[in-house]
Amino acid sequence: MEKVLRDGFIYMSQNKTLNSLAKKYGLRFGASRFVAGEDFKTSVPTIRELNAKGLSVTVDHLGEFITTVEEATENRDEIIRAIEIMAEEKLDAYMSLKLTSLGFDISDELIEDNMRQILTAAQAVGVFVAIDMEDEPRCEKTLELFKKLKTDFEGLGTVIQSYLYRSEDDINHLAPLKPNLRIVKGAYKEPATVAFPEKEDVDHNYLKLVKLHLANGNYASIATHDDHMIDAIIEHVKLNDIPLDQFEFQMLYGIRVERQLELVRQGYKVRVYVPYGRDWYGYFMRRLAERPANVAFVLKGMVKK
Ligand code: FAD
Repeated sequence: MEKVLRDGFIYMSQNKTLNSLAKKYGLRFGASRFVAGEDFKTSVPTIRELNAKGLSVTVDHLGEFITTVEEATENRDEIIRAIEIMAEEKLDAYMSLKLTSLGFDISDELIEDNMRQILTAAQAVGVFVAIDMEDEPRCEKTLELFKKLKTDFEGLGTVIQSYLYRSEDDINHLAPLKPNLRIVKGAYKEPATVAFPEKEDVDHNYLKLVKLHLANGNYASIATHDDHMIDAIIEHVKLNDIPLDQFEFQMLYGIRVERQLELVRQGYKVRVYVPYGRDWYGYFMRRLAERPANVAFVLKGMVKK
């Protein structure tokens, strides 16, 4: 049953008609549990509240399924504006973004140009930027662009997914750039030709990749809600005297809030991934796919509306 629900939500997350309907009708169906607001300004109080609890933030401007240069430009300008507000308001936050929202599927020149403009603005005000990783067919080009941009912009990171067979090689190839890599299990539906089909293997690879990245001497953003992963990493860093400033834990806004605060109390750096934007639908469906138990919450939200 869980698998059917998971596949159903992943299928719905990719449905363009449902996405545009969602955009038209605004943040609904309990999505505000996972999405801070439809624009950056309205998300600022949420970020402040998290900062006040000792949690750092990465903001994610949600934006997928765009098809025109105008939409890509609009997203770019929105991201730049948010970065400027972040600095003006002195928030403990950085920016995460998806290349598809900036024209990845339109042209290579467009995406590189948009990224350079964003990174120039971010560098000017000292805000870090992370490129989220999307589905596997886009992985190679994302990493190529990351490598190219990282040589010009120090404050840039990206994401590695432990469900992909290629990830161990990617970590080693990227290591000389000294990157801050967020390591995740992976949120898309991928075929067994490119990704481990068994969760056990994805989990095993997750720990292997985090340890490898730390052993390479690089900064790890350990993004998971999984206690088994978190506990194993804590044990590993203690045993190997890995300094507290070489890694942080990351979790999504609205998920495992108690564990986030407990980690802060234990002295670990924790960053909450706070999405905002009108394109909330695909993100929301992926969260439901991950944990169909959230559906009960959402159904309650629907009844209330
Ligand atoms: P799972 O293996 O899904 O679950 C293990 C256990 O964790 C569960 O049994 C449960 O105890 C707990 N848990 C998991 N989810 C929940 C929940 N919703 N509510 C309560 N408990 C839960 N994926 C990408 O592909 N690209 C990205 O760029 C990307 N960025 C991310 C950034 C951050 C900060 C985070 C936290 C995740 C990101 N992801 C990204 C998603 C990631 O790939 C996983 O899909 C997601 O984190 C679920 O995997 P998990 O490791 O949390 O645990």
